[in-house]
Amino acid sequence: MKVITNVSDMHQEVRNLKAQTVGFVPTMGYLHDGHRVLIKHAKEENNIVVVSVFVNPLQFNQSSDLENYPRDFERDRQILERDGVDYVFYPEGNKMYPNPLTINMSIVKRTDVLCGQSRPGHFEGVVMVLSKLFNIVKPNQVYFGIKDAQQVAVVDALIQDLNFDIQLKPVPTKREKDGLAMSSRNVNLEDHERQEASEIYQSLKSVQIFIESSSTWTRQEVIDYVRNYLVKRISGEIDYVDCLSFPELTADISKDDDVIIAVAVYYKRARLIDNIILDCNGKIKYGSESDV
Ligand code: AMP
Repeated sequence: MKVITNVSDMHQEVRNLKAQTVGFVPTMGYLHDGHRVLIKHAKEENNIVVVSVFVNPLQFNQSSDLENYPRDFERDRQILERDGVDYVFYPEGNKMYPNPLTINMSIVKRTDVLCGQSRPGHFEGVVMVLSKLFNIVKPNQVYFGIKDAQQVAVVDALIQDLNFDIQLKPVPTKREKDGLAMSSRNVNLEDHERQEASEIYQSLKSVQIFIESSSTWTRQEVIDYVRNYLVKRISGEIDYVDCLSFPELTADISKDDDVIIAVAVYYKRARLIDNIILDCNGKIKYGSESDV
């Protein structure tokens, strides 16, 4: 008999009993090449790949957003089949929430800023569904896009706090040719909105050059830089521009911290988000993903 006194050793022992490694890509479907790069990474690094397609009602705070969310499972199924995914988990109807929940998860750090601030309850819904999915799929590695960097920061905390025996694998953002981050919501943009939306990424690239060339930049200077850049070039309404430590997401940035500069913009029928993450020397940490 073995006596095991720490969590990582216990995890390793259980792992050794299972020969296969499972890579898991949680999605809300309506798949695009941004999702497909996560799948590509998962396939390269695991024996088995599981993708979930589930539009999680708990993480929507406006019922209109939930209703407008694009869905096409047959199309998704074909993409996943072609990409060689082993399993798609597509729970129908109320299979994920058959009974009203008794447990409520609350998050005390990393969500009082960025999307957490403008979408109260969103990340609580995310950690609830992910905890369920992690327990259902039991993956070794989970793949999340850096495009949703706050989600990566929250999942990082979820895995640590609840001792999920799972490795978090952040994947760089896949972009359209003009730099717009791919998103299922881009189909809801009007023509002129789609055209100007590439300026969001341009504003981030531009501020990165500013940061790299300035040894004395301040958080407020960075925020003002991006805001001024955008108000001159886009008609969408800026929800937020922020500059924070990563992954802690605090305004108090020390000189060794990685830094995220993040933007959210409201258009008529879509809210777009984007970010860049820089190391303490101002160099981009996660570049953009190349073609799949
Ligand atoms: P969603 O279906 O929007 O919930 O996204 C599922 C996963 O795909 C999340 O981890 C997202 O961060 C990731 N993702 C969405 N768009 C992109 C993109 N353009 N590049 C890389 N990953 C993405």
